[in-house]
Amino acid sequence: MSDRIHCCVPHCRRTRKNVMGYAEWICPIHWREIPQHRRQEHSRLKSEFRRGRIATENFRSLENTLWENLKAAAVEAAVGIR
Ligand SMILES: [Zn+2]
Repeated sequence: MSDRIHCCVPHCRRTRKNVMGYAEWICPIHWREIPQHRRQEHSRLKSEFRRGRIATENFRSLENTLWENLKAAAVEAAVGIR
């Protein structure tokens, strides 16, 4: 059992202590590689949810979709596809 979580980007060796119980994580280096508008979309969604404007079920599926996009963008940037 490990309490550390790895960055989603393949071959990235960064880990962090998984205090929040995340399923997946993107390290700060790769996070910065993601186009800004996508990161903003993600933070906007989270703040709307905190303000109670989005139902929990909707938030989960929206967040999932956005997260997949973020991950794909981080991986693409890391391997230089973009
Ligand atoms: Zn990484």
